[in-house]
Amino acid sequence: LVIAGLNLGSITAQTKSVTSAVSLDKKVTSLLKKMTLEEKVGQLNQYNGFWDVTGPSPKEGQAAKKYEDLKKGLVGSMLNVKGVKEVRTLQKIAVEQTRLGIPLLFGFDVIHGYKTISPIPLAESASWDLQAIQQSAAMAAEEAGAVGINWTFAPMVDISRDARWGRVMEGAGEDPYLGSLIAKARVVGFQGDFSSNKNILACAKHFAGYAFAEAGRDYNTVDIGESTLQNIVFPPFKAAVDAGVRTFMNSFNELDGIPATGNAYLQRKILKGDWGFQGFMVSDWGSIMEMQAHGYAKDLKHAAELAINAGSDMDMESSAYVEHLVQLVREGKVKESTIDEAVKRILRTKFVLGLFDNPYKYCNEEYEKATVGKAEFHQQVLEMAKKSIVLLKNKDEILPLNKSGQKIALIGALAADKTSPLGSWRIAADDNTAVSVLEGLQAYKDNQLTYAKGADVALGEPKFVFETKINTTDKSGFEEAIAAAKNADVVVMVLGEHGLQSGEGRSRTDIGLPGVQQELLEAVYAVNPKIVLVLTNGRPLALPWADEHISAIVEAWQLGTQSGNAIAQVLYGDYNPSGKLPMTFPRNVAQVPIYYNHKNTGRPSSNEPESVFWSHYIDEKNAPLYPFGYGLSYSKFDYSDLKLSSPSFTTNGKIEVSVTVTNSGKVAGKEVVQMYIRDLFASVTRPVLELKGFEMIELQPNESKKVVFAIDEKTIEFYTANSKWEAETGDFKVFVGGSSTQTLQADFQFAQ
Ligand code: BGC
Repeated sequence: LVIAGLNLGSITAQTKSVTSAVSLDKKVTSLLKKMTLEEKVGQLNQYNGFWDVTGPSPKEGQAAKKYEDLKKGLVGSMLNVKGVKEVRTLQKIAVEQTRLGIPLLFGFDVIHGYKTISPIPLAESASWDLQAIQQSAAMAAEEAGAVGINWTFAPMVDISRDARWGRVMEGAGEDPYLGSLIAKARVVGFQGDFSSNKNILACAKHFAGYAFAEAGRDYNTVDIGESTLQNIVFPPFKAAVDAGVRTFMNSFNELDGIPATGNAYLQRKILKGDWGFQGFMVSDWGSIMEMQAHGYAKDLKHAAELAINAGSDMDMESSAYVEHLVQLVREGKVKESTIDEAVKRILRTKFVLGLFDNPYKYCNEEYEKATVGKAEFHQQVLEMAKKSIVLLKNKDEILPLNKSGQKIALIGALAADKTSPLGSWRIAADDNTAVSVLEGLQAYKDNQLTYAKGADVALGEPKFVFETKINTTDKSGFEEAIAAAKNADVVVMVLGEHGLQSGEGRSRTDIGLPGVQQELLEAVYAVNPKIVLVLTNGRPLALPWADEHISAIVEAWQLGTQSGNAIAQVLYGDYNPSGKLPMTFPRNVAQVPIYYNHKNTGRPSSNEPESVFWSHYIDEKNAPLYPFGYGLSYSKFDYSDLKLSSPSFTTNGKIEVSVTVTNSGKVAGKEVVQMYIRDLFASVTRPVLELKGFEMIELQPNESKKVVFAIDEKTIEFYTANSKWEAETGDFKVFVGGSSTQTLQADFQFAQ
């Protein structure tokens, strides 16, 4: 509604939001006044739902204690409670049996779907399709909301540069710009506006620095400087706050000597201070307790004191708060106002979610049945899976496969695996529920398909997420695989990692193909080199031999419930791949950490041809195998006509950068057009390249499109030597193309 230049719609909306913030504060404050100190501390306590809550009440042990605490109002939230029946049982206790009847939050790791599993987050990030990513999060929220969950511990927005770290599968890769946009898409997708049970709370995690664990070993020490923290680690967290994320989770690691959980700089100064975050911070699992092992807290009580004073609002499964906070307040070591502030943040969130109006908002058995695993979800995860696939190599256009008259040998244990495509973090989804590649290819009936396992990926089937899988050495299946390959027109090999070889606690020092798969690949190649290699894995792998010898390589990650259908449609050309890598693939694990937005040294590698003085290895190239932003298509895209509207801009001005992209291939396709910049000199050294814009376009054969990007002060801002985000004047370069190793470039300037 716009009258005489006045946008009344937005004024009304603003007034409404101010009024509701005031009334929300009133509600929170009046409830807080009624609470005893014990009840306040109870709101800060989160328990894991280990026991069968719908069975008889637990009589002894940890479960009995938790159950009693629940009835006393000493629990604010539960995690890992599965299904409406269980949630309702516990919510009823909180609402009907405790003195104040404050409803519980039910948290769960809905990382890439609840029961209907989407591609792992790293794979989805390869789509560069923000709308699809947002819809995927919205779908996960809808399904999880239907089973009683009102809070997901996602998205993980840790920028990661180290493929040894198993949790790269949970993130958006190595780039803070792409990572920030994806963080926002996921937060908005999960949370929506909370007007219905289709949306749930999101949680930006792990704050902060977790992905920079030394040597890629999960939970290890983190020691990074302020420039990396500000320019690389923080941006996606800040983007999540700006998108309205209601909760944060801290991290297990220490940062420059202080565990994140006890870190007031991170939680109070940056998050709640500088960024004005209004939601609450949950600790990571037992991370308050872990401050003892870090050598930072002398006992659990001390850990509770350090954590609450540093701004950790809710204690996940340490029992540190529920055991010690009341006493710490009495001793004057923690102020009651500190507890009040944390409680208010949690209560506010419960009000915003609508739990005080209807504590059973997420508890409808009929709706649960009708919603979980519904057909639309399967259609949606199939689309997302196709968008996530990255074509790494297609020499001699061996792909797409002919649809008839072909003898195809399908080789690899992962080709028939119906569990691995679900990846890690799919707690509620049953094993064997993904469509395998074998099943996907069987749908194309006019070819003759022969399957041979060749070799297992690893020994045995892991039953628990932290159980370590052991490499197998068994080659007894090689013979059958070789025979099938000899007799085939084309061989499709599905190799990679078991679904639980990445994820939490799954760091690897060897990021090649596990087990004897590399030997299998070479043995098959020796009898039939016409191989399409389909990789399914949760992290970048280092596969220089495959890159040198194999004609076609398809990165299919772990694509979730519809995995095999998506892969088959790409292999047969019913879907033209358009994914681009969100993380660099090294040639050799020893190059790690390797990432496109690195700094130049005083002896830059661009000074090739080699001399002993440039920064290099004597036994390996500096360049990665596949760079960030890279990915092929069945179409061919040519870039031309890079033009700048002006060679320079000043304060409040901008430059328009335009480029023409032409599809010179034979089929229609999608391309992610990327714009990077380089700041040539600055008060703090800058990366050789930084992604600053991208756009996905679709082109018919012979069609051209002009793509326009804008460069302004925001584009060139960074955390400067003045300890703030600002634009510095100077000389820059802009690069545009289909990957971070593009060719078109131009110079520009920013002057005051
Ligand atoms: C992980 C978190 C997760 C939590 C609850 C921890 O081990 O680091 O990311 O949300 O467990 O399952």
